[in-house]
Amino acid sequence: MAVQSLKSSPSVATNGSSPVRNYIGGEWVSSASSETLPVTNPATGETVGHVPLSGAADVDAAVRAAKRAFPGWRSTPAVERVRVLFRLKMLLEEHFEEMSETLTTEHGKVRAEARGELRRGMENIEHACGIPSLMMGETLEDIARGIDCETIRQPLGVFAGITPYNFPVMIPCWFWPYAVATGNTFVLKPSEQDPMTHQRIVELAEEAGLPKGVLNVVHGRKETVEAILEHPDIAGVSFVGSSHVARIIYSRAAATGKRVQALGGAKNHMIVLPDADPDLVAPILLESLFGSTGQRCLAGSVIVGVGEAYEPIRERFLDGANSIRIGSGLDDEVDMGPVISREHRDRIVSYVKQGESEGARLLLDKSVVTVDAHPEGNWVGPAVFEAVTPSMVIGREEVFGPVAAMSRVKSLEEAVSLMHENDYGNATSLFTTSGKAAREFRYQAGISMIGINIGVAAPMAFFPFGGSRNSFFGDLKAQGSDAIEFYTDRRVVISRW
Ligand code: NAD
Repeated sequence: MAVQSLKSSPSVATNGSSPVRNYIGGEWVSSASSETLPVTNPATGETVGHVPLSGAADVDAAVRAAKRAFPGWRSTPAVERVRVLFRLKMLLEEHFEEMSETLTTEHGKVRAEARGELRRGMENIEHACGIPSLMMGETLEDIARGIDCETIRQPLGVFAGITPYNFPVMIPCWFWPYAVATGNTFVLKPSEQDPMTHQRIVELAEEAGLPKGVLNVVHGRKETVEAILEHPDIAGVSFVGSSHVARIIYSRAAATGKRVQALGGAKNHMIVLPDADPDLVAPILLESLFGSTGQRCLAGSVIVGVGEAYEPIRERFLDGANSIRIGSGLDDEVDMGPVISREHRDRIVSYVKQGESEGARLLLDKSVVTVDAHPEGNWVGPAVFEAVTPSMVIGREEVFGPVAAMSRVKSLEEAVSLMHENDYGNATSLFTTSGKAAREFRYQAGISMIGINIGVAAPMAFFPFGGSRNSFFGDLKAQGSDAIEFYTDRRVVISRW
């Protein structure tokens, strides 16, 4: 079915309802499907946009546009390709405040968190600007008499990205800037829950001079993803989302011969040793567990106090949790915004009920909460449990909300064993003043992102981002040199003249 082209680009407004469109071959187009979903402001319940639920015809149109654009883009010198990204970075600086407001409006996170997310996304664009150096190959003269050998990194064609709702700006920027800087073309399927801020980035990329078809966007959900996984002309897929879906993506993309990197969910343990200063550690834990209303893959989830570390941390953590101010992320006095949807709020509250029924001790429960100014918001306040064991659902599953589980153990070894009873392997943190304990922890943790006296161990753009075990499926992670590896093939040329 043909897709309808629109004359004007769909600028995003922060009030009223804005169009969300597919972007195919450099045109803003309607989906071949007439089905849409509302995009809501989670603080007010207002509809701020409608997102199309695209099907296989839309995905195919996007892949064909990307395939057409590939030869010209691939042969554009790397320095010229990254000049577009330099210009995009400058445009993003110009529109920074407007975009962070749109992000808060569609996602709910407080302004400081929205600004932080944009900054982290932009750092990936900055890093991708280094592609002329990052993409270089290697050469060795005389591998045999008169014979030389070189490796050249070459792009593979069309890549696709499928991204989650919790970082709707940063996570797409883990992928497409590297893919296009290395000479590939791209089809992005953003989260259907908050696609609007990234739509603005695409408008700015167009303004920065990104040629038609190099970056394409197709909106939708499961059916759209299935069409991506089945499409024969897609060389590889980058995915971030829950582990359940990551596992599906990994196996189905591999079954159709694609490269795949699939980042999944998390249950991150924060271990506190008795030598750590509880006054310094408690605020870090509060930010880790309740920042972004617990909707981060790097959020702490289980606090494990070793020996006498437990009581002072428990007391300070509870004090802090009690004083968290909840409300609209646009209000500067607020610490914690709403969660993304009613369904997600209800799911979090049901975890609190389940924790109680499993026998964990509920020390604080503000999970059911209202905000007078915004009665229709998706509010959920902090809840803190203690005596949580790894076999309980709240000790085992990813809640993805402001629900803290606390456990007390006797030693660091016991803390690490408790952590290893969990299947996830995204992030963990240790709080200590002992270099020896920190080294031992790094050695034994077996988790991919490790914080030492850091509550959110987020690798910056030039380091790999991704977990292990049930948190990651694939081998090459997001960002850093892994991104260059993932989006290029190293071809070896052996020459005799
Ligand atoms: P999700 O798995 O529900 O959705 C992610 C993407 O997959 C979306 O684009 C969605 O449309 C699509 N999708 C959903 N169900 C699908 C299905 N059955 N088949 C095919 N596609 C499907 O995740 P979410 O709720 O948007 O995001 C939260 C999750 O993402 C959490 O589990 C969080 O830990 C994880 N996450 C992980 C990282 C990381 O670095 N490992 C980073 C951010 C978020």
